[in-house]
Amino acid sequence: MRETFTQSLWSALSPPAPEFATLAGDVSADVAVIGGGLLGLSTALHLAEQGCRTVLIEAAETGFGASGRNTGFVVPSLRTGLGPSDVRALVGETGDRLMALVGASGNLVFDLIARLGIDCSAEQTGWMQPAHTAAMLDVLRQRQLDWHALGRTVEILDAAETAARIGAAGYHGALFDPTGGQINPLAYVRGLARAAQAAGAALYVRSPVVGIGTQHGRPVARTAHGQVTADRILLATNALVDGLSPSVARSIIPVRVFQIATEPLPAELRRTILPQRTPVADTRHHTFAVRWSPDGRLITGGLVLPGPGRFERATTIFRRRLARMFPAIGAPAADYVWTGVIAATTDAMPRFMSVAPGVDAAIGCNGRGVALTTALGREIAALYAGRLEPAAFPLPHGAPIGIPAHGIAQLGPMLWLPWSNLRDRIDSGRVL
Ligand SMILES: Cc1cc2nc3c(=O)[nH]c(=O)nc-3n(C[C@H](O)[C@H](O)[C@H](O)COP(=O)(O)OP(=O)(O)OC[C@H]3O[C@@H](n4cnc5c(N)ncnc54)[C@H](O)[C@@H]3O)c2cc1C
Repeated sequence: MRETFTQSLWSALSPPAPEFATLAGDVSADVAVIGGGLLGLSTALHLAEQGCRTVLIEAAETGFGASGRNTGFVVPSLRTGLGPSDVRALVGETGDRLMALVGASGNLVFDLIARLGIDCSAEQTGWMQPAHTAAMLDVLRQRQLDWHALGRTVEILDAAETAARIGAAGYHGALFDPTGGQINPLAYVRGLARAAQAAGAALYVRSPVVGIGTQHGRPVARTAHGQVTADRILLATNALVDGLSPSVARSIIPVRVFQIATEPLPAELRRTILPQRTPVADTRHHTFAVRWSPDGRLITGGLVLPGPGRFERATTIFRRRLARMFPAIGAPAADYVWTGVIAATTDAMPRFMSVAPGVDAAIGCNGRGVALTTALGREIAALYAGRLEPAAFPLPHGAPIGIPAHGIAQLGPMLWLPWSNLRDRIDSGRVL
């Protein structure tokens, strides 16, 4: 099977992409945003709403990157190992601002969807992280205390309640965050694109930016047939940054993730598996994540070793994983199999980087980007519009820091996957 953008379940379920022009000729703006994913669109929307002349340039179509291909979990937290106290240890007080933003990001997404009237199957049914070991439940209990200290309420569920809410036993308990939930991510992206345009932003698609330079002292982004000169340029290209900014590309590791969606399952299974429709992502090293789609399918996924037949292997591996967790489903067909790429950083922290005078890049949401990019885009817009002091921004802002031995580091996910699977088998005594 070949990779295409339209092979995902989300392509089948979403309204058509809004039509935008390609960039031609010279355009001037206050801010040019490169990349039409959630980060670029949230930034453009919030800038336009504050009266900034905003241009967004997308290489393919809005949502073409990870934003239109993800699982649609709205997760108000960073990766498992990065709770509020870990982030404070990494970046000091800035970390508290970041975690306040992360903690508010679930409500922010659902409020934005409601305010803009975006039809994207939004369900604020909470987000659940079950612990696969007793030690991980202790980590989640500490996480609950950390969030409490920042004024947020998340719950710890015992093993029996966790089993009832998942429809599968074996977990030691779970963290439940009522502000999370699930959406159709591609419909959300397309809704944001329409809203950004309605607010006054100019959006261009099928217009890959091929170079960034300066003209008359202002940054300029060039495409094959046009260019945008602006006071500020934001690179929001995520893992697809490659040729455009080698220094940004060296600061992340692209990680390819696969997703499958089963055929629609009978109604009686929907009453026993995730009966409250809460999306679940557990604490395993190779996370087991699962949710219901709006049309009654189970969606799951993860990493697969590179090489021939990746889609077929993904289908086999993730169908088997699902059936082990929920034997009652039998062996449903996988009607959809698709893939996308996330930008990972070595410490799992997002980055806001200064690439050149007037040119920034924001990247590295590490597989937790639906809520975080929406929130971060709003903060970047406030910064650029002069409504947020640079010192109050929730991330450090410095030059890109390259990952040492980047060429070899990119092989990391290949080694990490078998290691993680082994650790998970040792931890839980189960082969998945
Ligand atoms: C399979 C998968 C599942 C995931 N599941 C979840 C989940 O359930 N919950 C969650 O929170 N996160 C999830 N994530 C992560 C999340 O999708 C990302 O963190 C988020 O979408 C990143 O948004 P972005 O706008 O930064 O990047 P992207 O959505 O990748 O957008 C970047 C855009 O830039 C464009 N671009 C690149 N180069 C150029 C150029 N030269 N000129 C113009 N445009 C350019 C691309 O075409 C693309 O549209 C998942 C990711 C994947 C891949």
